[in-house]
Amino acid sequence: MADFKLTYATMFNPPEELHTGFDKAVEKLKQNLGKEYGMIINGKDVFADEKFDDHSPINTDWILAKMQKGSAQHAHDAMAAARKAFPKWSHTPWQERVKLLRKAASLIEERIFDLGAAMAMEVGKNRMESLGDVQETADLIYYSCYQMEKNNGYIVEMGKDPLVGYEASNISVLRPYGVWLVVSPFNFPHALTGGPSGAALVAGNTLVIKPATDTAWIVRLLADCFRDAGLPDGVVNFVTGPGSTLGQALVDSPEVDGVTFTGSFDVGMKMFSDFAKGKYVRPMILELGGKNPAIVSKNADLERATIGIVRSAFGLQGQKCSAASRVIVEEPVYDEMVSRLKEATDKLVIGDPTERATYIGPVVNKSSYNDFKNFTEEISQGGGKFLTGGHVKTGGNFDKGYFCEPTFVTDLPFEHRLWKYEMFLPITTIGKVKNLDEAMEIGNDVNYGLTAGFYGSAEEADMFFDKIEAGVTYANRPQGATTGAWPGFQPFGGWKGSGSSGKNGGGHYYLPLYMHEQIRTLIK
Ligand code: NAP
Ligand code: MG
Repeated sequence: MADFKLTYATMFNPPEELHTGFDKAVEKLKQNLGKEYGMIINGKDVFADEKFDDHSPINTDWILAKMQKGSAQHAHDAMAAARKAFPKWSHTPWQERVKLLRKAASLIEERIFDLGAAMAMEVGKNRMESLGDVQETADLIYYSCYQMEKNNGYIVEMGKDPLVGYEASNISVLRPYGVWLVVSPFNFPHALTGGPSGAALVAGNTLVIKPATDTAWIVRLLADCFRDAGLPDGVVNFVTGPGSTLGQALVDSPEVDGVTFTGSFDVGMKMFSDFAKGKYVRPMILELGGKNPAIVSKNADLERATIGIVRSAFGLQGQKCSAASRVIVEEPVYDEMVSRLKEATDKLVIGDPTERATYIGPVVNKSSYNDFKNFTEEISQGGGKFLTGGHVKTGGNFDKGYFCEPTFVTDLPFEHRLWKYEMFLPITTIGKVKNLDEAMEIGNDVNYGLTAGFYGSAEEADMFFDKIEAGVTYANRPQGATTGAWPGFQPFGGWKGSGSSGKNGGGHYYLPLYMHEQIRTLIK
């Protein structure tokens, strides 16, 4: 694998070793399922009175792990542990913190096959997407370490004020806030837990992590990497349980100095208003939903557009914040685009995502599976036609899990509410427009502004970049129309209802979000 760098853009043609490593890990893991895992508070495993079984969406008979249903008391204990660990961790030289976090990132890389196999079984991601999520996590942590080093710990000597008879020194330093809360979603359970956690920790904050309930197991395996790397007790605390009770208790805790929440718009907005009830304003980084357009001009290379759009519409079963959930095509190429999309989608293999040939696994849980049935019904009633899919998969092993067909919809009027609503499923609507002006107008006419893709001429691409209201934009990319950002290459974050900070993860401006500035003036 010496010359191979795994990213979401390179994952389509991996070396053979990635497959054999993954296969072995799946086999080993399947013999070891169903163990009980605690939460981690102050470095110790903590068990709650109530537990829950973590089932696989591939086959709900598979119980992957037994996890803890944490309570408000556990939220309180985790916060107290993080608070206690803060003075020492924040005064640990940043070089030392960087060293420990690089160790954690390298442990994640060492365990990539075991973690990837568990991810495929718990989330239902295909194998390359699973391995990608794990590698991205390590890369996000490395990137925060690199930023800290490149900026010399964010210690900057300012000008000396011209004081007659005195000598002044003015030093600007960025310092950590204190206890940071990371609440993460099910779909990128590692990258969107480990990325923000890495930044918060390098910056000198201590942490409480609360994963999505659907992915409690795999995030516990990530928390193990931090603990095994030798981060001191209390620096990283990990609690599991329902968002509505345990999660809410964390958000309401007066101990929290800052939050990174990645998840849906509705939960994020509620959290934002609840968090504003504290004694003063505290930082909150929100990374929310998307309704990402892929716009196809009459001058597009339709072969590239087809590959890129199908990958972005149906990768991870459409459950990516960056999924191409709207396709907007100029009239002259509409018919050909639609027939190519159908042909490519019909070739996608649906099945057990741990298997090599599978591109499309199950959706994450029963509620998403039921949503799929309801949305497809609503689309039919609204005048939409199914170019592909439209149904859940049944028969044989499909009946054991939550499998849905990759569904392209045509003829749904642009006025229909589902053109603006994030379904978070393998359902993408395709619409026809007269010209690119109309395409851009429809493209921007949503609350969200996360990613966007374009296929057309170079001059048209300039216009697209200039006018599109989104934080991550791509033109003419076959590796993914709207998906596949990688730290260091495509910093990831959203505008409008898709994000609050205006600074993208895995980019130049991200790490300082986790610190506040102090200016130190000393007169000698
Ligand atoms: P979600 O339902 O909003 O849940 C996200 C997290 O919030 C989970 O850990 C959840 O815990 C927790 N939570 C729920 N209610 C809470 C409360 N009252 N207080 C504190 N925490 C609470 O999102 P999801 O279904 O996991 O993920 C899908 C969403 O994430 C989509 O909208 C997607 O677009 C978005 N997303 C955005 C980005 C981005 O970078 N912008 C990236 C990935 C995903 P439970 O699981 O226990 O309910
Ligand atoms: Mg959810």
